[in-house]
Amino acid sequence: MAAEIQPQPQARKPCLLSKIEALQDVVSSAVIIPKEDGVISVSEDRTIRVWLKRDSGQYWPSVYQTLSSSCSCMAFNPETRRLSMGMDTGSVCTPMIVKWIYCIYVCFLYLAAHQGRVTVVLFVLEMEWLLSTGQDKNFTWHCSESGQQLGTYRTSTWVSGLQFDVETRHAFVGDQSGQVTILKLEQDNCSLVTTFKGHTGNVTALCWDPVQRVLFSGSSDHSIIMWDIGGRKGTAIELQGHNDKVQGLCYASHTRQLISGSSDGGIVIWNMDVTRQETPEWLDSDSCQKCEQPFFWNFKQMWDSKKIGLRQHHCRKCGQAVCGKCSSKRSTIPLMGFEFEVRVCDSCYESITDEDRAPTATFHDSKHSIVYMHYEPTTGNLLTSGTDKVVKLWDMTPVVS
Ligand SMILES: [Zn+2]
Ligand SMILES: [Zn+2]
Repeated sequence: MAAEIQPQPQARKPCLLSKIEALQDVVSSAVIIPKEDGVISVSEDRTIRVWLKRDSGQYWPSVYQTLSSSCSCMAFNPETRRLSMGMDTGSVCTPMIVKWIYCIYVCFLYLAAHQGRVTVVLFVLEMEWLLSTGQDKNFTWHCSESGQQLGTYRTSTWVSGLQFDVETRHAFVGDQSGQVTILKLEQDNCSLVTTFKGHTGNVTALCWDPVQRVLFSGSSDHSIIMWDIGGRKGTAIELQGHNDKVQGLCYASHTRQLISGSSDGGIVIWNMDVTRQETPEWLDSDSCQKCEQPFFWNFKQMWDSKKIGLRQHHCRKCGQAVCGKCSSKRSTIPLMGFEFEVRVCDSCYESITDEDRAPTATFHDSKHSIVYMHYEPTTGNLLTSGTDKVVKLWDMTPVVS
């Protein structure tokens, strides 16, 4: 049978550019400095290192500095060359990276922002705000110019993901309970807008696309949820493409692709140019909605019809409660976010065409257990840091096959 010719989305395969291996410890956070072909890394051993690409194509340490405490998280703004760092001691600081000599200012302005480890730090250039969250369950924001604390908000558990929408001044705060809290920030106070509940594990990463106004949340429950805020219909679509904890999420806006990485080393590139549908609510029934056989708790019908009760399952496509016999087949349903095979009822199985089964994501192996990910949009390079103490740099620019 001749294969149908379909407009092929640009195939993107991460191409390994370089590896940084001379590390004593796992890199907990790292950023790409696009203009200088450099990488800044921090690890548990309290060091901060700047790696620059040499003519050989290898990255070599250019600056090495020991900090007074470990840096637990950081963010980099390439325009201002400003690095934002969160420390194990609870302080946050924004040292500047000086051009040409690649040295980091020693005179950091340390702000005592938290009691205990800082979990996420984010610098908002437009507002001159330094947002941070800590293991003390506080979300705070400081003026990065004056160092003054502007406001604080208490979260129920500690926060592991933070994003900010500059236009509407909304902060998205993802925590260990699996929920995402949306706060509207003012200069010195904030108000709770709503909370998104959808994950069964803690939120491990958040990513915001300000153009489409879509928030992505990754979780230890292996799933990613796409919260469509811009669509104004309350649509939330689950993306199932990882077999382990999602550890990083990055959005490439120019190609409209979401890049996700997980602890089993998987890198998934999701095509966000397709329209996906929400999965249906699971229906309740005391008997199979296909063959009408009773489920095992339905003693009355079991007695009346002298039948043995069956286990209840649900079809992922129509949401109906069905028995195992009526849902014996498995299928991927990429347009519902199921890139892996899931249980479907027999009639839904018949209705899914080969075209429907065309994957909307590509799957790659980074060959290390990812702990941290950073994407640099101007160069199209992705950085992954693994438990193997190796940092890998990947070229993510499209390869037309
Ligand atoms: Zn049945
Ligand atoms: Zn069905």
